[in-house]
Amino acid sequence: SKFEDAGLHPVMLRNVELSGYKIPTPIQRYCIPAINMGYDVIAVAQTGSGKTAAYLIPILNKLMGKAKKLAAPRPNPVTYRPGIDAPVRAEPLVVIVCPSRELAVQIFNEARKFCYRTMLRPCVVYGGGPMHDQVDQLQKGCDILVASPGRLVDFIERPHLLTLRRVRYMVIDEADEMLETAWSDELNKIMTGGEQEEGNIKYMLFSATFPKEARDLAATHLAENYVRLR
Ligand code: AMP
Repeated sequence: SKFEDAGLHPVMLRNVELSGYKIPTPIQRYCIPAINMGYDVIAVAQTGSGKTAAYLIPILNKLMGKAKKLAAPRPNPVTYRPGIDAPVRAEPLVVIVCPSRELAVQIFNEARKFCYRTMLRPCVVYGGGPMHDQVDQLQKGCDILVASPGRLVDFIERPHLLTLRRVRYMVIDEADEMLETAWSDELNKIMTGGEQEEGNIKYMLFSATFPKEARDLAATHLAENYVRLR
């Protein structure tokens, strides 16, 4: 099995090549077709398995042809002056939630590689620092949002800055980690409370283990015919 056989958009195939990935990892072999076919996915995945690309490649690939139609109108990122020009709220198409700043930055960097030469713009937000730099980033346009749960809720509670109304894909990465560290209220809020149309969203849940809390989260939010991969 090769990336060439996965039915990817030529721009995506080129970005995969540029990233140096030659052979899909096992999780990528299963995940890419399942997401391509439109299934919600639960995947048992460890760090190092290639899970980030396993969801980024098919999700971004799906959006490539449709970004113009789905994305909100936005200012020119080069000429837009944050704090001077009228504020624009972020309306991402993809939200990826993960437990730590380090992981968020890693996922963001991976997303940047796969967004190369597309209309899609990735952004990253996490807690522990001031919001205003992140607000400036969001205002320049945000199609793919990588976020830690606490900071994402801070933004959702400011709907003039961020709305999830256009979200088409939501990824919960390292779900067990976030549930163990008591982020479950935030996760439920993220999965329902951002003005999203839940029926329009595909969900992906990645976790190394599946304790009861993770199974409950899946049962509450995922489509009944989700695919389970391990
Ligand atoms: P992850 O499990 O997503 O944190 O990925 C672990 C590491 O594997 C990262 O450094 C990726 O850049 C790398 N990686 C992911 N997929 C592939 C692949 N198909 N071939 C080679 N390296 C990969």
